[in-house]
Amino acid sequence: MTVTLSAEDVFAATADAETSSLLSTYKRAPMQLVGGEGVELIDSNGKRYLDFASGIAVNSLGYGDPGIAKAINDALGAGLIHTSNLYRTVQGEELAAKLVERSFASKVFFCNSGAEANEGAFKFARRWARKVGTDTKVEIIALRGAFHGRLFASLAATDRPSYRAPFRPLAGGVSICERDLRDLDTALDGETVAALIVEPIQGEGGVRVLDADFLRRLRAMTAEREIALIFDEIQCGLGRTGHFFAYESIGVVPDMLTLAKPIAGGLPMGAILVSEEIGATIQAGDHGTTFGGGPLVAAVASYVVDRLSDPALLKSVRDNGAWLGQQLDALARRSGKVRAIRGTGYIWGLDVVESANDIVKRGWESGLLALTAGEHTLRILPPLVMNRDDLMRGVQILESIVG
Ligand SMILES: *Cc1c(COP(=O)(O)O)cnc(C)c1O
Repeated sequence: MTVTLSAEDVFAATADAETSSLLSTYKRAPMQLVGGEGVELIDSNGKRYLDFASGIAVNSLGYGDPGIAKAINDALGAGLIHTSNLYRTVQGEELAAKLVERSFASKVFFCNSGAEANEGAFKFARRWARKVGTDTKVEIIALRGAFHGRLFASLAATDRPSYRAPFRPLAGGVSICERDLRDLDTALDGETVAALIVEPIQGEGGVRVLDADFLRRLRAMTAEREIALIFDEIQCGLGRTGHFFAYESIGVVPDMLTLAKPIAGGLPMGAILVSEEIGATIQAGDHGTTFGGGPLVAAVASYVVDRLSDPALLKSVRDNGAWLGQQLDALARRSGKVRAIRGTGYIWGLDVVESANDIVKRGWESGLLALTAGEHTLRILPPLVMNRDDLMRGVQILESIVG
């Protein structure tokens, strides 16, 4: 695929970002992206950027994947982009069946984003908890360092003071607990708590891989007290760890699991996977969405789920990921500017001495897109199809910009 720049692209790129009509909720990078090819993005000046960000863990198949284009074109050919959830569609049912077949779940609810998936999971947890407990069993507990989204209940479960403070009061009945078994033992009161939500790898919170033993203990505690254990695998799921679901490598099975980011190849979609027991308590009218799981987005997600659950792809993420960890470790030892590295598969965090944001900016100049996860943590999330040569190229650019 070749990318040619139209006059409009060039004009748009020269427009001052400050004159943009977009609400300034983001400090955007100055370049304007006009195309993508493989694991690279191209700006309006024709400059190429190696992608260590994947549109924040979304573009797992890189750019210009022919299967995604085919799934979109097939849906357009059938004339069906949207139907609403008042009618059955083959695409939505097939996708749900695939996710059920590949997981612990017996039912799936589709929505349009990660925050929405978590908010829905909170509702389902309360619905179920009122059945196994009393009307006081409503609390949702999240962990220190968590990120679960920016809506009112998901924000209440997100441990970022600067995201929360301007918007108080947040949704009630949601609180943050230390990642400490003794604190959790006290907080997880079976009479009052409906659910515990956990990212097996805390992404935004600094790429913290939670200890498998810790997660096993949480599973035991929540099961014993009839508290729903929700895994938020929006960032770490769907192949990023080299396993289709992160929970598979830990050997801990949750009661609900939320997905979003990569599931529909860049089209907006979220999903809530629900155990048989919780699913059985949800009735018609309990939750809804106009767009969720529509035929176009579901057809694309069906293709993406097949690709991301392919054993050969997952093995390459595990093997290349372990190798990438070794390269990052060597970089850290050589540079003296990296205090620690954490991660697995194609999700890694590097604690840096300098401002992580400054390093990301130097990356733009050097042709690398990377992310931060806190002030002093660089985060890398390459497309899962990136090969070792390109991973190495990215590591070399990283080494030149960490200072
Ligand atoms: C990105 C993210 C979310 C929120 O997803 P949105 O689609 O932006 O609402 C929730 N949880 C985790 C772990 C995420 O990484």
